[in-house]
Amino acid sequence: QQTDELLGLDKFAVDEDNPHVVIDKEKCIKCTEKPCLVVCPAKLYKLGQDGQIQFDYAGCLECGTCRVMCSHKALDWKYPQGTFGVSFRFG
Ligand code: SF4
Repeated sequence: QQTDELLGLDKFAVDEDNPHVVIDKEKCIKCTEKPCLVVCPAKLYKLGQDGQIQFDYAGCLECGTCRVMCSHKALDWKYPQGTFGVSFRFG
């Protein structure tokens, strides 16, 4: 099965008022490598036309890869609170 199909089975309870991953734009803009664009398995990081990273935390799988790989330590990353976040369902 395709990874995208399997990811589509997951359920997300998004905490709209409290993003669990926040990007420090000052630090982010200094980064030239931008590993987040390739390491996120959910492909949540995109490069905007302005050259800045755009990010939507709603589909986050909570793997922590971006936190580890961000060479400029630009991510304030924590697990979603309480009942929020991803529920994995592998079909
Ligand atoms: Fe993507 Fe994993 Fe980072 Fe979530 S924790 S944004 S799934 S790399």
